[in-house]
Amino acid sequence: MRILLVEDEKKLASFVLKGLAEHGYAVDMAETYKEAIELASDNDYDLVVLDVMLPDGNGVDFANWLRGNDYKGPILMLTALTSTTDKVKGLDAGADDYLAKPFAFEELMARVRALLRRYGDSPESSVLKFGDVEMNLISRKVSRSGQDISLTTREFALLEYLMRNAGRPVSRTQIIEHVWDMSFDSGSNVVDVYVNMLRKKIDKPFDSKIIQTVVGFGYEMRAEAS
Ligand code: CA
Repeated sequence: MRILLVEDEKKLASFVLKGLAEHGYAVDMAETYKEAIELASDNDYDLVVLDVMLPDGNGVDFANWLRGNDYKGPILMLTALTSTTDKVKGLDAGADDYLAKPFAFEELMARVRALLRRYGDSPESSVLKFGDVEMNLISRKVSRSGQDISLTTREFALLEYLMRNAGRPVSRTQIIEHVWDMSFDSGSNVVDVYVNMLRKKIDKPFDSKIIQTVVGFGYEMRAEAS
């Protein structure tokens, strides 16, 4: 899951960014309206967290821009303004939910989870399945053949990305973009390192391998050819 965070208050932004990253989300951050447009033009996001008062523009206008540019995911607005007019403006512009500052991080997380769930394909979309592997995105439990598997936050995010793309190869760059964030040095072998750690838990103890290497490209979640 990749989130765009648009917030110019540095302290708040870094606190939110850190918290979201700890929960396994890949987060890109924009401090201005201009940066937000640039990032959203170049990347696909699963959720946008958006401050209303930006130094060079208004979050409501950015929400309008997103909807006008085919962004179909949820938008959560952050604002110090709690007047009804502002809420109505934001919701009219295509925001899905509002959170007034100051807020507790737990409340932000609860709203993020609720929005992602609401935007999921079906009520079942909180559970991903591939063969005998099951991952519950809400309880964050993973099992294979009914055996619980304990994953770190990053391993979980990696598995989630592979599961969501099961049956098609994903490149190392795509993996980095969705599981880490854009600031990562794409020349590093971090993806291979994490795939190996994940394989030790999800493949090695079992008879068949489900994470396949696509030589010169990346990885694919696919049942082994028998
Ligand atoms: Ca602001």
